[in-house]
Amino acid sequence: MTDSHVHLAMFSQGERRTLFTEAQENGVQRVLVPATGKDDLETVAHLVEELGDGVFIALGFHPHAASELDSGWKAKLEKLLASPGVVAVGEIGLDYHYMNSPKEDQLKAFRWQLRLAQEASLPVVLHHREAWEDFVTLLKEQSSTRGVAHSFTEGAEGVEVMVGLGLYVGISGMVTFPRADNVRAAARVCPPDRLLLETDAPFLAPVPHRGKPNRPAWVRLVGERVAKERQVTQEQLERQTDRNFLQLFAPALLSEA
Ligand SMILES: [Zn+2]
Repeated sequence: MTDSHVHLAMFSQGERRTLFTEAQENGVQRVLVPATGKDDLETVAHLVEELGDGVFIALGFHPHAASELDSGWKAKLEKLLASPGVVAVGEIGLDYHYMNSPKEDQLKAFRWQLRLAQEASLPVVLHHREAWEDFVTLLKEQSSTRGVAHSFTEGAEGVEVMVGLGLYVGISGMVTFPRADNVRAAARVCPPDRLLLETDAPFLAPVPHRGKPNRPAWVRLVGERVAKERQVTQEQLERQTDRNFLQLFAPALLSEA
């Protein structure tokens, strides 16, 4: 299995090793770790050296940290994209829920990083929250965008828009939350070849672990629920989503899988 979105850099070095080992022991062979800003950019950039094979990384500034992305950090980000294991720019996007960075800064940082990804021929890991219209508008400005809209919450119609733009849809443990009908609808209608699974650990722990820090091994619980919603076996779902992950982030590894 694959956890396509886990913030391992938000745990201590010791915890990271423990969580990654536990994930592997539970059949989660691959994880994608996105950066969120200046606080974790360096740590994430060195995670492959730290943890070894099976770790894939995305480097970027989360919308919360958009105001941090000045010319110095832009240069640093561009340089770090050459680090081992970098497969994407992320996570990037728009979040108007908390407004930790002003809207103008978020729009600027998102546009700049979308262009950076295109120039580097890398896919993007996308965050969206309460910013759907601007999010879609900026994506449409690009001539083409490859990537995943992570922890997707915009329901069945939203999936259609993302897939129309050539993007994948990431389903998180929210799919197990009692009130998340929007997420379950997305999980049901997403075309099989565009679906990814994720934990977003340490956030969004699935039922029955809600309220605890999430862990990559629990992507299995996300998969169980998504398989049930789509009326496929867990095995079928795992095979398909593993393949999708490689297709998007590491096509060179597909022939080996
Ligand atoms: Zn995230």
